[in-house]
Amino acid sequence: MAIIVQKYGGTSIGTVEKISHVADKIIVEKNNNNDIVVVVSAMDGETNRLLDLAKKINPEVNGRELDVLISTGEQVTISLLALTLIKKGYDAISLTGSQAGIVTNTVFNKARIESINNSIIKNYLNNGKIVIVAGFQGVTVDGDITTLGRGGSDTSAVAISVALDAKECQIFTDVDGVYTTDPRISPGAKKIDHITSEEMLELSSQGSKVLQPRAVEFAGKYDVGIRVLSTFADGTGTLISKENEQEMEKAIISGIAFNEDEAQLTIRGVPDQPGIASLILGPIAECNIEVDMIVQNVGEDGLANFTFTVPRNDYKEAKKSLLKSAKNFNAKKVIGNDKIVKISMVGVGMRTHAGIASKMFSVLASNNINISMISTSEIKISIVTDENNLDTAVNVLHKAFELDK
Ligand code: ADP
Ligand code: ASP
Ligand code: MG
Repeated sequence: MAIIVQKYGGTSIGTVEKISHVADKIIVEKNNNNDIVVVVSAMDGETNRLLDLAKKINPEVNGRELDVLISTGEQVTISLLALTLIKKGYDAISLTGSQAGIVTNTVFNKARIESINNSIIKNYLNNGKIVIVAGFQGVTVDGDITTLGRGGSDTSAVAISVALDAKECQIFTDVDGVYTTDPRISPGAKKIDHITSEEMLELSSQGSKVLQPRAVEFAGKYDVGIRVLSTFADGTGTLISKENEQEMEKAIISGIAFNEDEAQLTIRGVPDQPGIASLILGPIAECNIEVDMIVQNVGEDGLANFTFTVPRNDYKEAKKSLLKSAKNFNAKKVIGNDKIVKISMVGVGMRTHAGIASKMFSVLASNNINISMISTSEIKISIVTDENNLDTAVNVLHKAFELDK
């Protein structure tokens, strides 16, 4: 019997009616003689609701207690889905991350999965059960509950697929695949049938929320295919896999991603000497804040300016750390802006095509969109701009690069 891992996101299980629909889909696969493991998210909006409650107590809440709270959303949905399957006459069991043997490191709120004891799920499958596992959560070796970062159920599903050597990891959501850009922003967005894990990783990392970057990274590393599918419509969705040579020849740009969860910080007038970057960024990394784009430019009189971006949620903490550094180096000034977005064009075809960046900049310029930071890699160009420019910028780029064709 083949093992199929299916993951259902929050909008797919937002009501008991939708859970019943999901149960019917699972039953079809079960009746096709497959072993089924299902990973679920919390109900639509639930994780946000829990976070908002905690923020009423402390706006900068984080750490262990937050994970105890926000992991509960998934405990509700695993049991509701198991109850529904049982009511429909199928043998199902729900497991929390801890019960499923998903062990993580101790970085609360953004933990990484370190191991999965696959014998637990396998034993239940061997006894004919449909196994339902809570996404987004795990447990440390000391027994503390951890969560995997927003959108982490995708990663739970891929990690379980790897641990069980599953045939495919199916990610069911509210869109019928991965599009050239977020269809909510761009009505002209087109569904992509196949995409390489390399390109998908770049799109996800640059903000395409349809998959958590760690899930794509994991799948690429262990060569597991991911298929993104709609919970509500039939279709073949989008396959994300390592090899996709035919498609690669065609697309220079495969998609446009954007990240609204960005903030920018600048420290002005720091000494232009060896080691300064690590002295500025070291303390930020120690706070577990991920720094993204970094630009350093040399000013006058041996002084330099240093600009970087961080997740918006970490803006205040990063600014605090930077103000401390500023004192230590007698820097002139610290300034910041948490109303920015990053827009990225991604495509492996950029490796062999010149002129993409200059076209991107000229399209933005002719639409009066100011760029405040630029960064490029072999298969990506990112720019930072004011958040008010988001819709226009994405749509004019989508059109100019003929992604709607
Ligand atoms: P789930 O709750 O199922 O995990 P998410 O909200 O995390 O669903 O992800 C699905 C959403 O991702 C879609 O509704 C869509 O708005 C958004 N999205 C962003 N970029 C893309 C893209 N390139 N292709 C498809 N969906 C995208
Ligand atoms: N419920 C979590 C979140 O909203 C995890 C997930 O949905 O993947 O981020
Ligand atoms: Mg998601």
